[in-house]
Amino acid sequence: MSLCLFCDQPFTEDLDIRRLLLPGKSKPSCLCPSCRKQFEAIGPAFCPQCGRRQDNGKICQDCQKWRRIYQGNFLQSQAVYCYNQAFHDLMVRYKRYGDYLLCQVLQELAAPAVKKLAADYFVPVPTSPEHRKKRGYDTVWEIFNPLLPLTPLLAKKAGAGAQGEKDKKARMQAKQNFFLNPEFGGTITGKIILLDDIYTTGRTLYHARDAIETAFPECQVESFSISR
Ligand SMILES: [Zn+2]
Ligand SMILES: [Zn+2]
Repeated sequence: MSLCLFCDQPFTEDLDIRRLLLPGKSKPSCLCPSCRKQFEAIGPAFCPQCGRRQDNGKICQDCQKWRRIYQGNFLQSQAVYCYNQAFHDLMVRYKRYGDYLLCQVLQELAAPAVKKLAADYFVPVPTSPEHRKKRGYDTVWEIFNPLLPLTPLLAKKAGAGAQGEKDKKARMQAKQNFFLNPEFGGTITGKIILLDDIYTTGRTLYHARDAIETAFPECQVESFSISR
């Protein structure tokens, strides 16, 4: 018997064939089957630039706008889950109400796609210092830390606020709040994958990318978000 971290109900896990074949290799699920069903995978058709679900494989409107703003220097991004009601509820509980254990649900959802990521560095998008202090943890770091070797390359200015608390227009007009983490000494070359929980407008990830590109112009930066 396991306890579902999303609905707090006990459930019996269906032991799938993989777990029978590889005992001890996969962790027990922290989501009951009915909660798991609420999280909708993106696909089969999605925007090839940001991973947003679509009914065709064309570049989405958001990305067309980024292409105009950045004159073709666009950010290649991928995502795995639709930002539906279940995902929204999960993030509100994890980020706004500080339900720390829910990072395990996010890890379980992200793990299969994360295992396929290949880069020289994995850089999580940082939380602002005041949010980190209030919650006692960095939300994105905690999700990805057990899954990948992380490099704390970026920091976020104090007083920047959270994107999730702004409407779409305010998000788009947000100023650059990321800078190179002064505790990180050294130089970086090769491919970097930025990691975030949600890709909403793309503003955050583009700013994070810009901060890295300014410091290390030789690097190739892509991004991954659990939801889009
Ligand atoms: Zn459940
Ligand atoms: Zn797109």
